[in-house]
Amino acid sequence: MGVAVDQVGICSECGTVDTSDPCTICSDPRRDASTIVVVEDVSDLWALERASAVSAHYHVLGGTLSPLDGIGPDDLNISKLMERVESGGVNEVILAVNATVEGQTTAHFITDQLARFENVKVTRLAHGVPVGGELDYLDEGTLAQALRARTKF
Ligand SMILES: [Zn+2]
Repeated sequence: MGVAVDQVGICSECGTVDTSDPCTICSDPRRDASTIVVVEDVSDLWALERASAVSAHYHVLGGTLSPLDGIGPDDLNISKLMERVESGGVNEVILAVNATVEGQTTAHFITDQLARFENVKVTRLAHGVPVGGELDYLDEGTLAQALRARTKF
């Protein structure tokens, strides 16, 4: 079984790519488990990690809602996110999605889905993120600043 340990797989908790499941981020006790940063894909997670912007948990959607491309909520890792919030202990969900039409559509959808959890604050990145901007193209300072100055959705 030694070989399997080194194989890259998908974390069943957050959806990121790692050699262990749960991944090293999900299983890190020093991270703040009450905050979940929602990102579109793994490269955005890595961009945030490089910026050392936050020491929280993540949730990787695996894309954005895009009706024109036939991508609906069931095609993304959204129901697992709801499960994680529902299981308790989450105080804040940060929607760190790209400032694209699809990203914002996705953010609105998730915000609606989370509305029933009254004790969970939903925030998004401040407008340091340029319109149409993709997170993984931002420099680390801008990204960290956008996260720190996040606003309530
Ligand atoms: Zn994980």
